[in-house]
Amino acid sequence: MIWTAILIASVIGLAALFYVVWPLLAPRVPPYQQQDDRLIDLINRKDVTLAAIKDLEFDYHVGKISEEDFQRFNERLRRQAMIYMQQIEKHAPEVYSMDDALEAEIARQRQSRNGIKRKTAPVAPAPEPAVQITCAHCGNTLSPSQKFCGECGSPVSSVAAATN
Ligand SMILES: [Zn+2]
Repeated sequence: MIWTAILIASVIGLAALFYVVWPLLAPRVPPYQQQDDRLIDLINRKDVTLAAIKDLEFDYHVGKISEEDFQRFNERLRRQAMIYMQQIEKHAPEVYSMDDALEAEIARQRQSRNGIKRKTAPVAPAPEPAVQITCAHCGNTLSPSQKFCGECGSPVSSVAAATN
């Protein structure tokens, strides 16, 4: 019985530990960041390929490589550059929409924060109208906190003649 309890406790403990530690260990790159990195990578590759084409043409013009090699490499490089450019075009709209989504999210957050700030402050209760009591005996004006008339000494409870 005790062993069952220990087993259950350790399973729950491990699950909790895993739950807490896992996000710290797992690489968590936001999706738009991933998209950005992919796009930058593609642009870099395209640039490198275009530079290689330029070098190849230069090499061909100065006679460093044969026409046969030039044609072969040139075709391969141009095809590669084309693929990169197509992929860039394919990825770019997604990146833009991701940006829009991010902006929208930020705007939403901003709005909700303002909403909290704009919450109406609790309205202070309106002050009670001052009740004035006049002494039934002598006509002296008394405040409700007074128990006896200051003039004639009559107890206020007995002279509770409220006028207002
Ligand atoms: Zn009085």
